[in-house]
Amino acid sequence: MTRKRKWPRPPTDDRKLVFALILLTLLLGARVFLAENPQHNPWAPLDLRDERGWATQTKLSGLRGDSQGCRAVLDRSEIAFSALPATGEGQCRRDDRLTLDAVPFAPRFPEMTCPVATGLVLWLEKDVQALAQDILGSSVERVEQLGTYSCRRMYGDADAAWSEHATGNAIDIAGFRLTDGRTVTVLEDWDNGRDEDRFLTAVRDAACDSFGTVLSPDYNAAHADHFHLDQGRSPAMGACR
Ligand SMILES: [Zn+2]
Repeated sequence: MTRKRKWPRPPTDDRKLVFALILLTLLLGARVFLAENPQHNPWAPLDLRDERGWATQTKLSGLRGDSQGCRAVLDRSEIAFSALPATGEGQCRRDDRLTLDAVPFAPRFPEMTCPVATGLVLWLEKDVQALAQDILGSSVERVEQLGTYSCRRMYGDADAAWSEHATGNAIDIAGFRLTDGRTVTVLEDWDNGRDEDRFLTAVRDAACDSFGTVLSPDYNAAHADHFHLDQGRSPAMGACR
């Protein structure tokens, strides 16, 4: 009869040491990885020039309602902006107002909150231009927008909640002009089954990574001619369609 040979088990203290060494190696590895990839590091300050990472969206949403922290992100990312003085009253009081001095692929945008500005820069730089190249084989040279600030309730309805536009915390995008002369608009090209439609759907989906709420023609008829992008903090918001 053969007996299975049993390897002697290391003493308990040795096993604890091996476990501690493995843990230490993993922690050091994670630390090096996060230092080299700040976009994945939830504790690293947000820089809009970094690639998108696991922590980007969380860091972006953390800026909502934090105009000081948000402006520090623009400074760090070397995005030039002009701060505007607080103005307005009641539901249309705007403490966080700025204009971006040089937005890529767009003329000067009107005033907006800092979280809208950060979302816009990230969306235009990381998503819109790349998707235009991939799907349309051209570049966006101009973004057509319908406005940011408007002191009103949603849909202009006297009984509705106040719109994020009332504080300039939203922007409406109507379309894009390309360097090859084409113009892609939400009104004309949405759901037309062509490449322009694929591009619009892709940039709408991508906007959900940069904004708290994204509404397109899929949401309702009031958005048949534009994308509504906002950085509202209401838990009822957060729609992406
Ligand atoms: Zn809107």
